[in-house]
Amino acid sequence: MIPSWSKTDHLTYLKRRMIFEDDRKDQAGETALICASCRHPITSVSEQTDVRGRHDHAFSYYRQIVRLGCFRTAPGCLGVQGISHGYSWFRGYAWQIQVCRNCSTQLGWKYTSEDESFYGLIFETLREAESGQENGTAV
Ligand SMILES: [Zn+2]
Repeated sequence: MIPSWSKTDHLTYLKRRMIFEDDRKDQAGETALICASCRHPITSVSEQTDVRGRHDHAFSYYRQIVRLGCFRTAPGCLGVQGISHGYSWFRGYAWQIQVCRNCSTQLGWKYTSEDESFYGLIFETLREAESGQENGTAV
């Protein structure tokens, strides 16, 4: 079964970002993003970055819409399978599937070009947690 990966309403930082565009770092920087399945820390809101002028992107994926956000780093992710240089949602970037290091749920993809790399993480697979509340570890 192909999962639906289009939900974003559960992530409040996306709404804050739209409302408080200027101070989003102060408002949301301490928020950890954790795996929706097992609550393992994946990355944090402060690692969000813009790619091609946007943090959030939507792509069609097996007749569904996948909505993902771009992050500079995601220490909770583990790359699996090979790096693909085939068709990429971000032209010029190779990609590799990323799963949760703890429970192996797919969270998104890592994109790498000659100059840089970033993680495209599916919003629906992430949840928010304040730093220190989840296992006492910040990511
Ligand atoms: Zn997990």
